[in-house]
Amino acid sequence: MGEKRDYYEILGIPRSASKDEMKGAYRKLALQYHPDRNKSPDAEEKFKELSEAYAVLSDDEKRKQYDNFGHQGIDSRYTREDIFREDIFNEVFRDSGFGFGGFGSIFDVFLGGRERRRYGPERGSDLRYDVEINLEEAFRGADKKFSLTRSERCDACRGTGAKPGTNPRKCQTCGGAGQVQRTRSAGFAQFVQVTTCPTCKGKGTIIDTPCSACRGEGLLQKRRTISVKIPQGADEGTRLRVGGEGEAGIRGGPPGDLYVVVHVRPSELFRREGDDITFDAAISFSQAALGTELTVPTVDGKSVIKVPSGVQSGTVLRMKGKGMPRLEGRDRGDQYVKIKLITPERLTVRQKELYRLLAKEAGEDVSEDKSFFNRLRSD
Ligand SMILES: [Zn+2]
Ligand SMILES: [Zn+2]
Repeated sequence: MGEKRDYYEILGIPRSASKDEMKGAYRKLALQYHPDRNKSPDAEEKFKELSEAYAVLSDDEKRKQYDNFGHQGIDSRYTREDIFREDIFNEVFRDSGFGFGGFGSIFDVFLGGRERRRYGPERGSDLRYDVEINLEEAFRGADKKFSLTRSERCDACRGTGAKPGTNPRKCQTCGGAGQVQRTRSAGFAQFVQVTTCPTCKGKGTIIDTPCSACRGEGLLQKRRTISVKIPQGADEGTRLRVGGEGEAGIRGGPPGDLYVVVHVRPSELFRREGDDITFDAAISFSQAALGTELTVPTVDGKSVIKVPSGVQSGTVLRMKGKGMPRLEGRDRGDQYVKIKLITPERLTVRQKELYRLLAKEAGEDVSEDKSFFNRLRSD
């Protein structure tokens, strides 16, 4: 497969296309290229391409990811199964006049036709591992090691399942096809029924003397330590694909991939939203009135921010480029400092005096000792 084409281009729609335009465009092209209808050799490939484009763009989150990061953004975050959700397609073709079952096998088309592949080499399953990091690690990137158990090819028999020195032989019943055909006549009609070969259970081969290491399976469960590099800017839900580290393939097929899903522990100091960070800073009345320079923590150590005089409680100040690194790209998000005014709870006699002076200067009525409860107490 060559370079992947742009999804919008494949569907022939502008980048600003609405969901309905997109659905219409996909439906029209899909009906044209569905392999059940279109027998030209590249129809299936075309159909898969179209469907992938639609599956991604019809999902708001995936569309955003694609718009920002292109194919790489999608491939690093989602598995094939995440993309080809059957319900998306059912919805498009619900009233298509396409006979029932016309799209029933849609999933098989995407996954290369499960039936056809069952007896040949099969790619191993993908694995998923969840790893937890803290905000600091998300900021700097981290090397994480963990252990997991997965199936691997048995080295003793090189995956054949037959005792070393022997080989599996072709099944006589099905001639190695793994399936048998039965033709049944009912009146004028003939039915051809294809079923799994009962002798070899679909494998196409028979093992006379199984390998003792793997008991004829050709696979062994092994515990492995995996190292993975968590990139700077990793966020909750970031998926990292580690190629070839999934379950072993079957009958010589390639192994699956490992997907590492990142979870970021919430920080006590910072709130994170995408690449931006929010920090709450408490300041006094005097600082708010006169302005100040505050030293605040950032994900990258302490930093100074200028608070202008007259700032109000709830004001949000921006520290440009002091947030998290962007997962793709060089720059960083911002840190927002949310100002909170703290009212002093205890005052010295001198402070009280000064506050009274301030109040007087501003012409404010502070009525400090006239409150109902204070009067009760002083009586
Ligand atoms: Zn073996
Ligand atoms: Zn057989």
